[in-house]
Amino acid sequence: MPSSPDSLQAGAHWVVLTGAGISADSGLATFRGGGGLWEGHSVEDVATPEAWARDPQTVWRFYQMRRRALLEVEPNAGHYALARLERHLNDVGARCTLVTQNVDDLHQRAGSNVWPMHGELCKLRCERCGHLTEDREHFDFDFVPCPECDFPRLRPHIVWFGEIPMGMGEIEAALQTVTHFLACGTSGAVWPAAGFLHAARQLGARTFVNALERPENLAPQDQFLEGSASEVLPRWVAGWMGEDLPSAP
Ligand SMILES: [Zn+2]
Repeated sequence: MPSSPDSLQAGAHWVVLTGAGISADSGLATFRGGGGLWEGHSVEDVATPEAWARDPQTVWRFYQMRRRALLEVEPNAGHYALARLERHLNDVGARCTLVTQNVDDLHQRAGSNVWPMHGELCKLRCERCGHLTEDREHFDFDFVPCPECDFPRLRPHIVWFGEIPMGMGEIEAALQTVTHFLACGTSGAVWPAAGFLHAARQLGARTFVNALERPENLAPQDQFLEGSASEVLPRWVAGWMGEDLPSAP
């Protein structure tokens, strides 16, 4: 177990990066990567600014189905464990920065403060006036007009292929003071996770990787936590907090 007394004390700054693996444990299809297909379309064909310009009805239908799917899922034990870790760190005067590549709202619903670097399914944005709105009431296939300027269709507040991830300046600033870094449910071999992990190592942070399989580029100093996020994280967070671990079922 990696628990060390300084891990959870004032001055520590944990940066946690989560990816598709933690949402998959809630039963959510994520589509990104792996040549994912949706109704015969490659995801690249429905997740680009060009697709939105060329065929907004198809893109909107894809995102409305994904937005609706959020109503059917719940945060899992992995999400709750990270929210618990954050609360504990805040209580002892330490920092926790949770960055996610996921566009669902499961971290938020579990009680975490999160930087969603690829956007959020539950928000819509106006391309004309920039108005950003949280929308949890329109789930059919009609476009939603902008409440501010009446532009006829808001777009999903999602970072599409070819667009720049959100909050990168803040995330890079957070990485300057990282003391502990955890990558969870995201391939440590792929940008940006690999870049964050590398930056954390360079700064001498303790580094942890949770994934179903050992990534090829794991460094000797990384601690690898094999298994699904929902099984591994609750036990591991309990260990960090110095609690007796429940025995494995
Ligand atoms: Zn507008």
